[in-house]
Amino acid sequence: MNDDLYIRESSEVYDAIVVGSGISGGWAAKELCERGFKTLMIERGRVVEHRKDYIGEGVPEWKQPHRGVVNNLVTEQQKIQKECYAFNDSTKHFFGNDRDLPYQTAPGTTFSWIRGNQLGGKSLTWHRQSYRLSDHDFSANKLDGFGTDWPIRYQDLAPWYSHVEKHAGISGESAGLPQLPDGEFLPPFEMTVPEIAIKASIEENYPDRKLIMGRMAHLTEPTELHISQGRVNCQTRNECQKGCSFGAYFSTQSSTLPAAAKTGNLHIAANSVVHSLIYDEKTRRVKGVRVIDNDDLSEREYLGKIVFMCASTIGSAQVMLNSKSKAFPNGIANSSGVLGHYLMDHNYNARIEGEIPGFEDEYYQGRRPGGLLIPNFQYEPSRYNKNYVRGYSFSGDASRENWKSTGERDGIGADFKAQLSQAGKWKFWMMAQGEMLPRFENQMGLHATLKDKWGMPQLEFDCRWSDNEKLMMEDAAEVGHQMFLKAGLENVTSEFTERPVGIAIHELGTARMGRDPKTSVLNGYNQCHDIDNLFVTDGASFSSSATQNPSLTFMALTARAVDYAAKEIKAGRI
Ligand SMILES: Cc1cc2nc3c(=O)[nH]c(=O)nc-3n(C[C@H](O)[C@H](O)[C@H](O)COP(=O)(O)OP(=O)(O)OC[C@H]3O[C@@H](n4cnc5c(N)ncnc54)[C@H](O)[C@@H]3O)c2cc1C
Repeated sequence: MNDDLYIRESSEVYDAIVVGSGISGGWAAKELCERGFKTLMIERGRVVEHRKDYIGEGVPEWKQPHRGVVNNLVTEQQKIQKECYAFNDSTKHFFGNDRDLPYQTAPGTTFSWIRGNQLGGKSLTWHRQSYRLSDHDFSANKLDGFGTDWPIRYQDLAPWYSHVEKHAGISGESAGLPQLPDGEFLPPFEMTVPEIAIKASIEENYPDRKLIMGRMAHLTEPTELHISQGRVNCQTRNECQKGCSFGAYFSTQSSTLPAAAKTGNLHIAANSVVHSLIYDEKTRRVKGVRVIDNDDLSEREYLGKIVFMCASTIGSAQVMLNSKSKAFPNGIANSSGVLGHYLMDHNYNARIEGEIPGFEDEYYQGRRPGGLLIPNFQYEPSRYNKNYVRGYSFSGDASRENWKSTGERDGIGADFKAQLSQAGKWKFWMMAQGEMLPRFENQMGLHATLKDKWGMPQLEFDCRWSDNEKLMMEDAAEVGHQMFLKAGLENVTSEFTERPVGIAIHELGTARMGRDPKTSVLNGYNQCHDIDNLFVTDGASFSSSATQNPSLTFMALTARAVDYAAKEIKAGRI
């Protein structure tokens, strides 16, 4: 590891600059450093060191000052972040600060922007569900005409999925499904007995549906490679979002950062808010970034020969929109005018729950860190529901109620105490995860006058669910309800709720890939059509949302883009 890993001022011209240190930035840095590029990773937030800074890890709720409930003063400061299910007293320090980074929403709309502004970004708090996109997903836009055609297909990405899966460590079960390609899996977590029974029922009643164990970035059986990274197997504590000293789940800190640092080529400028990119009108290339210091608000610049934007779908678009020049008055690499548009999220708006009778003698040990999946079964136009296009998956799991999940109960004495230690009913729940169509009107832009603490224009979101998404979720609630009843579940309830866009935390699409530079920002290698040495490899590059959790695809796209860039540089084309 190099002695000067963390830097502040520097006049060096780096081979590569990576903006952001989350899932995408970590991969960009690793791949660049391993190819010999002297790389500067720039992160707006503070340094979070693996193990040392997981301050909530291993502290049970009863030892926390407010039993896990976040103090009111802090919740005000994180009034948006607290909407996230993973936000609590042990994780709050890994979520953004809404007071310092306010944003606006168009009248009549809401948008939940959940952030992780520290070294590691949201790789520390993600839920680790990791799925490949299929050829059906890459060709959906072309086949049904919603959105621009992805300039790549599954075969372009398949080797890169394998590459990142082997390094990250993805547990999962191969299922041979056309809509959800298999990968390089570590052994899957096990289903419980009631889950196996529900699986059998669903697959018998609905030949087009499969219930599989979720695929997760967790080490169930670490390989030599993982052990050499200092990582060991998952302890099934399911407290991952506090940080994991075992390195058992994939994060920048556990996986990509040590690999990058080991090369000696990595430098990190933390607490450095990238304000804009510096464009050289003569060479028509980006030559560096302008930065505002996170703490003292002073300004500085970093220079690099190639820039990878990995500041998250919204973060990257914000910096690019704020990078104005004579050539690009509306944001850098935005000759198409679509930068900031086609913003998507996933549509998690249907939930079904029920009780599973007949398994009172079944128990389980440990807390599995993820659940089950019914992959999208409406994955091509011939399978679409007649009322809407595209489809959804279901994810969820079965568990037994305990003293906490049954809520407050009255009682006193030995009998009451004994009763509290008994397991309660088996319950099963699932949530639909639907595709959101790419629509030009769904957008983020810069506010004309309002600025944040660092002098960056505040963001303004105008993003809403269309009838397609609403009809899809109404249908999913009903379809799930019937499926639960057929599986013999009791007291089944289902609901369609219209939660804000953004709260699925799968933002996508703000600098989309496409074949035509007039209607897209990036080519099929995540390279800007307008500027050869500028790449955007996070979710901004997506041309459609598909139904799968997207971060594994960010990893694969990033690794592939670095490989391409390195070859282009060698060939003298960049
Ligand atoms: C609770 C939760 C559960 C999730 N579950 C899943 C899941 O199961 N599966 C899945 O696929 N995805 C999941 N996600 C989403 C996943 O975390 C994100 O898709 C992923 O982290 C995005 O990676 P990224 O590198 O693009 O962005 P991030 O991880 O957000 O990293 C971006 C980094 O860039 C930095 N940055 C931003 N702006 C600037 C700037 N101007 N200057 C310098 N630095 C900047 C940020 O501070 C941050 O560190 C979940 C997210 C959360 C919060």
